[in-house]
Amino acid sequence: MPLSVLMATGTMLIDLDAIISNWLSLDAMSDCETAAVVKASAYGLGAVRVANALAETGARKFFVAVAEEGLELRGNLGPGPEIYVLSGLLENDLNMMRDLYLTPVINSVEQMIRHAEAMQDHPFGLQFDTGMNRLGLEPVEWQALRDVLSEQNPAIVMSHLACADEPGHEMNEKQLRLFREMAYGLQAPLSLSNTGGILLGPEYHFDLTRPGIGVYGGAPFADALPVVELHLPVIQCRTVHSGETIGYGNSYTASRDIRVAAVSAGYADGIFRSLGQNAELFADGHACPIAGRISMDIICVDISELSEDPDSMQFMGSMQGIDLLADHAGTIGYELLTSLGSRYVRQYIGA
Ligand SMILES: *Cc1c(COP(=O)(O)O)cnc(C)c1O
Repeated sequence: MPLSVLMATGTMLIDLDAIISNWLSLDAMSDCETAAVVKASAYGLGAVRVANALAETGARKFFVAVAEEGLELRGNLGPGPEIYVLSGLLENDLNMMRDLYLTPVINSVEQMIRHAEAMQDHPFGLQFDTGMNRLGLEPVEWQALRDVLSEQNPAIVMSHLACADEPGHEMNEKQLRLFREMAYGLQAPLSLSNTGGILLGPEYHFDLTRPGIGVYGGAPFADALPVVELHLPVIQCRTVHSGETIGYGNSYTASRDIRVAAVSAGYADGIFRSLGQNAELFADGHACPIAGRISMDIICVDISELSEDPDSMQFMGSMQGIDLLADHAGTIGYELLTSLGSRYVRQYIGA
């Protein structure tokens, strides 16, 4: 039973077996090593539990966005696994990188100099900018530095695809070509692909892939198992009579007598207002429509179809997955997952 029926905070049920299975499926698509991207608290699902489960499954390399995310991860994973920090090497990160033995992914000449001056013998990765213009050394910078840098044996040389979720996009081949050119002759292991890149085929795989969203059940990995269920407690039910309104702005008027449940969660919990009336909540096998605006902590739901008032309702799961919800809200599964707030109880099943 989800905890949500016992308290006013919702429960995220996070299926670690599904996470493991998704990672293994993505791993099986290439002949190379597969890392796990666990930045932003494993896309909101909890970096420690996720990384521990994947480490036990065989993942040896993990990626976080900022050094601070490496802290609890290193404490739980122990000294073995490599933890790469995608933001690179900032001045204030030096101690943490050393103490926690994190591997910065050097993105700029400035970071490269910092590394050379402050921690020459500390392992590092290198990122090339192959067209995304976000992070990484540009081709001209690399040309100027390659003799110095390649001698220092980077632990990984990587780049990131801008349009990997669009298989037909010309940008993919363009970046692939430039990555090959820039990495030509290097001994270091190479890495280009996120989830979308893995699906583009073997020429994109190189020595290491870096899936994130696919592990967590999201597009573009269409065969992913769903990972998250969201169960929300019902805190009050009432009958709303024909002609009465519900919620802020009076945006909803009952056209007949209906039964309405007030569910304890709202946009402060990542249930975006922009979901509007498109999303549904589920109980007892019925899909129940949202009635009125989603507010900060409360969603009103038309439960007239139900034979009795429910204790809790399900918002996310196999019948309404992250990508469908993201579509309804005009966003992507990544944003939806990482917006699921801190008020939920994260309950893990499996593994
Ligand atoms: C977030 C990120 C990934 C993972 O991307 P997904 O699309 O979630 O698989 C891989 N590499 C880099 C550099 C990233 O920033």
